[in-house]
Amino acid sequence: MLDLATPKRVAIIGGGTAGWFAALTLRRIFSPAVEVTLIEAPDIGIIGVGEGGLLNLVDALNRNKIPVDEFVRETGAAYKLGFVYEGWRGGGREDCYYHLFGGPGIPELEWRQSGFFPLLSARIAAGQDLHSCVPGFEAIARNASQDEMRALLAAGKSGLVASYHFDSYRVASYLKQVAISRGVVHRKARIDELVLDRDGYTRSLQFEGQQLDVDFLIDASGLARIGIGNTYGRRWESFSDCLLLDRAIPFHLPNPHKNPALLTRAVSMKAGWMWQIPLIERVGAGYVFSSKHIDEATAVAEIEAYLGHSIAPMRTLRFEAGHYRTVWINNVVALGLASGFVEPLEATSIGQMLEQLRNIERVLVDGNGIVSRQTIEDFNRSNAQCWAGIRDFLRMHYDCPRKDTQFWRDVAKAPFPESYAELKQCFQRRTPRIVDIEGYVGAGWQGIFHTVNWMFVAAPLGVVPAAAARTELRRLPPETHADIKAYLDLLAGTSTAVRRQGASVH
Ligand SMILES: Cc1cc2nc3c(=O)[nH]c(=O)nc-3n(C[C@H](O)[C@H](O)[C@H](O)COP(=O)(O)OP(=O)(O)OC[C@H]3O[C@@H](n4cnc5c(N)ncnc54)[C@H](O)[C@@H]3O)c2cc1C
Repeated sequence: MLDLATPKRVAIIGGGTAGWFAALTLRRIFSPAVEVTLIEAPDIGIIGVGEGGLLNLVDALNRNKIPVDEFVRETGAAYKLGFVYEGWRGGGREDCYYHLFGGPGIPELEWRQSGFFPLLSARIAAGQDLHSCVPGFEAIARNASQDEMRALLAAGKSGLVASYHFDSYRVASYLKQVAISRGVVHRKARIDELVLDRDGYTRSLQFEGQQLDVDFLIDASGLARIGIGNTYGRRWESFSDCLLLDRAIPFHLPNPHKNPALLTRAVSMKAGWMWQIPLIERVGAGYVFSSKHIDEATAVAEIEAYLGHSIAPMRTLRFEAGHYRTVWINNVVALGLASGFVEPLEATSIGQMLEQLRNIERVLVDGNGIVSRQTIEDFNRSNAQCWAGIRDFLRMHYDCPRKDTQFWRDVAKAPFPESYAELKQCFQRRTPRIVDIEGYVGAGWQGIFHTVNWMFVAAPLGVVPAAAARTELRRLPPETHADIKAYLDLLAGTSTAVRRQGASVH
């Protein structure tokens, strides 16, 4: 049992996005008598390559009582409404599909029956894309300004839910200022060692000849992975057999248009893909690639040939896709990059970190600071389930038609995780359902990707074929067939409106 009913000091190692969000959270949940200290090594620095959040970013700001407008203003964040995938089906630059952050306000999502969305299935059956049914897509396509988008989102009819593109350096520096103003103690030092007692609890941190006693520790030390990795030596669950990318070369680009684009671009390249994250003042970009298929110099040359101009690459980042099986041991929890990382496809890193943190808070608050071993085991199990969902979702993106280079041919041969192979078999027969993916969500946790997210990727890649959608539509009760036909007529342009149960679809 972990007893944090009367702690004196809780500490965080690391001053990146994970560390400062953790500091704000601990400051909020512990009484003012408890010291919350964050220690960061200025000589190591943080990761900041132009990041994109998921939908739980806004929840995390709200939970921490940070006004979203202030966050946007202080960090230069720009709207992010989803992703565009370019060239993943082998069709070059013009070949785009979209994964949008869809929400309330999409008429096609209002009819749900037998676990699926008949009108989305009708679109797939008719060979139509899914993104055009999101009313706000028109604003994305014409590159609406931030102000226009704000008004559209506020009106609640765009069918879109917003997250943000941001620069982690500016986010960490803003969160730091807020956390210090709320009483978090900030120390600059490089931790040399975690000092453990006989039972494996971390009792103090050693640095520069000093010792700092702690009752609870969040290890947010990034890729240094000082706690759960180096000190506790826990088992790494590698995804490198199915997710082949292991290097990233970040760089900056000027914004090509007057308004920052509203989507993250994921451009397929010869040995991986290039992210472009539009911020207010520039684009954060990078090529994430497989070192078995291309070296750094060739990667830079390929980027420059694609863009038509030279770039100033920043340091190359190396990583292995995966996570620690156990991220919470006794009184230490690893958070953010210190606990795991996969390539930035679908921007899962900060999303997963915030969900971990929400659950650390839930467990500590609901348990009144007293946490049983089983609860810690449940946390670890749920965290691993969440990572398995991320792995399978990402693996599906590579289950794509592009095959023109050795990398894309090797990707096609890379094994499917068993769970994805099973899902794919189901998706060949019918569209994704919540029952397919709820196993990725542990008790008390919230899923990062939902059915519609899976549909936005599975359908354009052909993982859900049109025939599967036609079959499931035929199984609907006969009295609904006229509604489906009317919708198909609408899509075919032979009708102008569909009414179902009094609700206008278009
Ligand atoms: C190529 C790439 C692209 C990415 N794109 C996205 C994206 O689009 N969306 C997304 O959500 N995320 C993305 N990420 C991940 C995202 O950048 C990180 O998850 C996020 O910045 C949080 O990082 P962190 O706080 O865990 O670690 P870091 O930012 O690395 O911070 C680590 C901290 O630990 C400190 N530290 C390390 N060792 C010690 C020590 N011994 N003593 C004291 N302090 C120490 C360092 O000084 C630093 O302050 C991307 C990452 C990479 C590599």
